[in-house]
Amino acid sequence: MMKENTIVQTHPWLIKILGSKNPGHAFVATIPLYVVFISYVVKIESYLLAIGLFFLALLYWSFIEYAIHRWLYHTRFKNNKLRWFFETFHLYHHRNIDDRRVLNAGPLMIYPMVIILMMPIYIILRGNLFLVSAFGIGLALSYNFYECVHFLIHYKKFEFGYFSYIQKYHLHHHYKNWNKNFGNTSHLWDVILGTYDKKYKVFNVTEEYEREMITEKRQKKEQTSLLLTN
Ligand SMILES: [Zn+2]
Ligand SMILES: [Zn+2]
Repeated sequence: MMKENTIVQTHPWLIKILGSKNPGHAFVATIPLYVVFISYVVKIESYLLAIGLFFLALLYWSFIEYAIHRWLYHTRFKNNKLRWFFETFHLYHHRNIDDRRVLNAGPLMIYPMVIILMMPIYIILRGNLFLVSAFGIGLALSYNFYECVHFLIHYKKFEFGYFSYIQKYHLHHHYKNWNKNFGNTSHLWDVILGTYDKKYKVFNVTEEYEREMITEKRQKKEQTSLLLTN
């Protein structure tokens, strides 16, 4: 078996702040951002522009989640340090699908990411904090939605509706073809950029795949059997 070289192995304590087992942590970390953004948005003059920027942010995030997944997380960097860092968050997740520690981003990841993602918008909107904040609320909400979706589709099996669709879509990427279907909350950018594989529609979340999910029930069962064998 390949020897892993990720933060999970080298600095397990660091993964506790870079990653998270729960999308709720990401939400708590973004609360101060919501407070700041809302305090500006309530004083905005053009609500139409603010609503437009809000929806633009949803589209922006859908592209960002695609771009990070396809061009950052799936890149095998030649530089060892870059590999050590980036493979921690996604390729490790591919190899250890039931390890919750890297399932969501932790506070140490979120704040640098917010600064990087908001910088171009801040420049384009010439530092207008009212408009930047309207965009920021859309970005924060769609980011939190993304974290919830990624947690839930690895947590339990869904039978119908949006979550069943996006679960099949993401698990097809995990188990069948990791060069396709990079979108985590929709297939929009996969279709536009030619990485869409419609075979996810016939992908069945069988018991075999379900066993790798991270339900509390399963974790408790494992802990009990571990106690019994010791
Ligand atoms: Zn995943
Ligand atoms: Zn992937």
